[in-house]
Amino acid sequence: MEKKDKKLYELILERRRKFNELIKSKNYLLKEDIITCPCCAYPKKKEFDICPICWWQDEGYENENAKIVRGGPNGYLSLEQARINFSKTLNCGDTKKLSIKEKTRIKKIMKLFDDLLITPKKDLANKAFKELKN
Ligand SMILES: [Zn+2]
Repeated sequence: MEKKDKKLYELILERRRKFNELIKSKNYLLKEDIITCPCCAYPKKKEFDICPICWWQDEGYENENAKIVRGGPNGYLSLEQARINFSKTLNCGDTKKLSIKEKTRIKKIMKLFDDLLITPKKDLANKAFKELKN
């Protein structure tokens, strides 16, 4: 992994650690079955296999098998590559180019969740999840 990619990668791991801690500490997130996406590290509902932010399909890949390419719904992507792609392009894949409108939407959601880390209030979480559905 290139040095600059490694930095991006570490930021994702750090974000996931922070959101996992937040979820564990807030009943309103636990009750809703919120988990973190293994790829972009933002919170999502457990019921969604496909992350509405980065489009990674959660098939149980974790840090231990992040380098493995299994095929299937994520195609030729390893979790490691998907994380780096998301850091650079806001999409786990590298074939589809997002429109400005899509990028703006994703950035807005990311900002809402990033704010939630600073101010972990339920209404802020609701706002972020509502935006995810739109
Ligand atoms: Zn994601």
